[in-house]
Amino acid sequence: MGLDFNIKDIIDILLVAFLMFQTFRLLRGTNAVNIFLGIMAFIACWFVVFYVLKMELLGAILDKIMSVGAIALIILFQSEIRRFFSLIGRKRNWSILQWLSKPAGGKNEIEELTIMQIVVACRNMSRNKCGALIVIEKNTDLSYLLHSGEQVNATINYRLIENLFFKNSPLHDGAMIIANKQIMAVGCILPVSQNQTISKRLGLRHRAALGITEKTDATAIILSEETGRIAIAQNGDLIVNVSEEQLERLLYKELTGK
Ligand code: ATP
Ligand code: MG
Repeated sequence: MGLDFNIKDIIDILLVAFLMFQTFRLLRGTNAVNIFLGIMAFIACWFVVFYVLKMELLGAILDKIMSVGAIALIILFQSEIRRFFSLIGRKRNWSILQWLSKPAGGKNEIEELTIMQIVVACRNMSRNKCGALIVIEKNTDLSYLLHSGEQVNATINYRLIENLFFKNSPLHDGAMIIANKQIMAVGCILPVSQNQTISKRLGLRHRAALGITEKTDATAIILSEETGRIAIAQNGDLIVNVSEEQLERLLYKELTGK
């Protein structure tokens, strides 16, 4: 290995560092981060054994493991890889392509009056301390979740939303899925996030909201039954104690495509 560095090598190293940092950021707070660090340690060992110490036998074994490692990685990081590609394909990254591939108006672009219905329902449920979990689809298809609940296919209406989440309603448990400008289903079961950094005081409702936004680009609104507070989950991040105005602004930004 010579030491004649040129500008291309520097760009190469910077790109690898950037990629590794982005991967780490994506995995931070999940169980996968430990696997990632383990793999980094393994690659470091392989590099030292193979290139620095030039140990033939051990090097050959580690080399073989490295070559099947790619397949093992795909299996281990299945959901993270899916999330990574969904992040790359996200609307704000490729807005021109998305715009070209979408019919006028967009499948999930909701009119302002409809957003108001969701906001009013959340305001009322927050005041009444009615627990709720609403997931709003964007680009990633959520139809695979619908089977876990009851299909509704109703126009978005604040009275109906409140009614469905009302404590004694048989359908109040689980999540409501909003897609195609409709309430598609209620009582849906979402994947629960394994994130270890969120507050221990937050229970399964918040974890389920986080879980679905880690895997898709949906927005989830959580109404706490314990405190009446509104929280929003997006991209695997949770914003707690959201005001009505904040909720309204965020939904406008996310759903009207303006
Ligand atoms: P709250 O502040 O309202 O108490 P929390 O985050 O503390 O919310 P829990 O008290 O555990 O959550 O809330 C339980 C409710 O969350 C359940 O009754 C159910 O409606 C909903 N929930 C729990 N797990 C899931 C899931 N995997 N998918 C959808 N909804 C879920
Ligand atoms: Mg609770």
